[in-house]
Amino acid sequence: MASPQPPHILLFPFMSKGHTIPLLHLARLLLFHRRIKLTLITTTANRPFIAHFLGWTTDDPNIIDLPFPTQIQGIESTDKLPSMSLFTQFATATKLMQPHFEQALNKLSNVTAIVSDWFLSWTLESANKFGIPRLSFHGMNNYVDAVGHQVFMNQLLSGPESDDDLITVPGFPWIKITRNDYEEPFNQRVPTGPSIDFINESITATANSYGLVSNSFYELEPLFIDYLNRELKPKVWCVGPLCLAEPPPEVEARVDHQQQPKWMEWLDQKLAQECSVIYVAFGSQAEIWIQQLEEISKGLEESQVSFLWVVRKNDDETSVVMKNLEERVGERGMIVREWVDQIEILRHESVKGFVSHCGWNSVLEGICWKVPILAWPMMAEQHLNARMVVEEIKIGLRVETCDGSVRGFVKADGLKKMVKELMEGEKGKEVRKKVEDIGEGAKKAMAEGGSSWRTLNELIDELQGVRNSNGDTSPSTKGNTTPS
Ligand code: UDP
Repeated sequence: MASPQPPHILLFPFMSKGHTIPLLHLARLLLFHRRIKLTLITTTANRPFIAHFLGWTTDDPNIIDLPFPTQIQGIESTDKLPSMSLFTQFATATKLMQPHFEQALNKLSNVTAIVSDWFLSWTLESANKFGIPRLSFHGMNNYVDAVGHQVFMNQLLSGPESDDDLITVPGFPWIKITRNDYEEPFNQRVPTGPSIDFINESITATANSYGLVSNSFYELEPLFIDYLNRELKPKVWCVGPLCLAEPPPEVEARVDHQQQPKWMEWLDQKLAQECSVIYVAFGSQAEIWIQQLEEISKGLEESQVSFLWVVRKNDDETSVVMKNLEERVGERGMIVREWVDQIEILRHESVKGFVSHCGWNSVLEGICWKVPILAWPMMAEQHLNARMVVEEIKIGLRVETCDGSVRGFVKADGLKKMVKELMEGEKGKEVRKKVEDIGEGAKKAMAEGGSSWRTLNELIDELQGVRNSNGDTSPSTKGNTTPS
């Protein structure tokens, strides 16, 4: 009898840093810990980032780059978009990659499965043409999906008069949301428009895929994972937190680490001075207007806490605010205006708090390095993530807005008060203890024998079985893995 083919998995990340990074962490897991053959699909401009992340040379043949549609000013990653209002146009343009993707599939042999971002819904059709199971990679948590399912099934957003009225979620009656927790146009009574169409296509393609790969771990949100596996298709496979997938030392040594950046030296100094630092960062996409940046700078100055603030905006107005702040706080603060290694910062011993927009990757990174969060959601599903962080898993506090609305303006006083509470107050102590416990749970889930470790093994075994038996690539119906 012929021996079974070794697995060959094709990974196709969406071109946003917050979507690409976790899938590259999955690539590390598959490559370095399971020795699985991988092919990465990307675009020309994103090739160097992927190669560098995996410690590969830029021309590595296991990376295939496809031409990216040119209609968005030659931009190939959402963090480079001049405005997030172009997001749907950008995401929809990826459909034009389908013929190139299928040409690439034609040349590859023995692909066991395709794991593509849920925003690349059209990859399902291509996978079906080639008889390859497609798994949708979902960069969100299961709380957001389960609550979202209840909200839309029960049309909860069509009821309240005010955008800030609390609405009880029937399936999870302890959870209260507001219309303001949802973005425009998802918050409308009858949501319509291109972004709704885009999300609906993504959801439908995920439902018809073989499985959903989730960057979460069972013990973090069992109720919500069980709910999804009971109520919806396809099966959710929780294999995270993926940010804990570190490369082995020999690969790490190949990654070109430049000189220690100045902010890491500054953190070392703070550690030597026994000073706790709050890290302030809002991810790769959030747009913050100048008046809000001014209030953040005042709030951080008045808090008297040492801070490391990563600012994405690079215009002249922002430069003036930052320069003034630097002059006022001197050595107490460090402002960075370039890409940082966020994980390296969060794992630094001096970092004891994280003012975060609650992008799911940032939340998981806070959990894994046991840094409690001051939640300040800005866009996408971040308002629901913030509810999860503060009200469900209780690893953070919420920043205070001046009118109490979850989308309200944050004045310097509201920020200062909550920064001090997180770093020095009683509530801060409680959430610090909680994040330490949950962070331990995350490590256990990813360690050999843990729930995520076993789920990934089971997924690979199942896919290999499907491939070797030329089996059915429709959604997996077997029961979900729960920890023993
Ligand atoms: N990130 C980073 N350096 C930066 C900005 C972001 O390493 O200067 C990483 C961060 O660690 C996280 C990802 O980019 O892994 C951002 O994802 P998240 O879901 O937190 O937010 P998004 O950018 O999608 O809003």
